[in-house]
Amino acid sequence: MIFYGDGLSLWVYKSFTKHCKYQMIVENNKVVSLSYELKVNGETVETVGADSPLMFLFGAGNLLPKFEKNLDGLKLNDSFDFELVSADAYGPVNEDAIVDVPMQAFAVDGEIDRNLLKVGHHIPMLDQSGNRLNGIVVKFDDEFVTMDFNHPLAGNDLHFSGKVVEIREASADELEHGHVHSPESCSNCTDPDCHSKEH
Ligand SMILES: [Zn+2]
Repeated sequence: MIFYGDGLSLWVYKSFTKHCKYQMIVENNKVVSLSYELKVNGETVETVGADSPLMFLFGAGNLLPKFEKNLDGLKLNDSFDFELVSADAYGPVNEDAIVDVPMQAFAVDGEIDRNLLKVGHHIPMLDQSGNRLNGIVVKFDDEFVTMDFNHPLAGNDLHFSGKVVEIREASADELEHGHVHSPESCSNCTDPDCHSKEH
């Protein structure tokens, strides 16, 4: 704090330090750690404990915008409890993302892997442009496999409850890369220089 020494500033300063001791809050360019529970229709689908929290760079666009908005301004140890309607989460189920894929697309060296091809299995695939897609097998017959490429949480309202377990300043490298660097690795980093840098 810049302090000019005149009477008013002195009073403001004393009052400030007495009544609202500075505390870091969840805001842009802070690294935030959360423990939480995610429920869909009352069923717990994900639990993230304080021992291995979700750690992310706030405001860097790595998480759903409405998810971040609900955490904005929270302090250390604050709890949260909010719902994201599907439109603010992974959107509605898109019928166009449920497609019939010819059985031959699943052949490896001319053989269909029957262990892989089971209803409910997740199968990573590539689209025509070479992008990775994760699909779930809905059903299949001798000719076609019906695959659902929607996000597994599409069409669902998400209920999050949890706690802020850590807030810290982001490092210059983290701000530059737009993501968190853990002490052990930079596994999420696509920057080839990342591994040579001190994290
Ligand atoms: Zn990085």
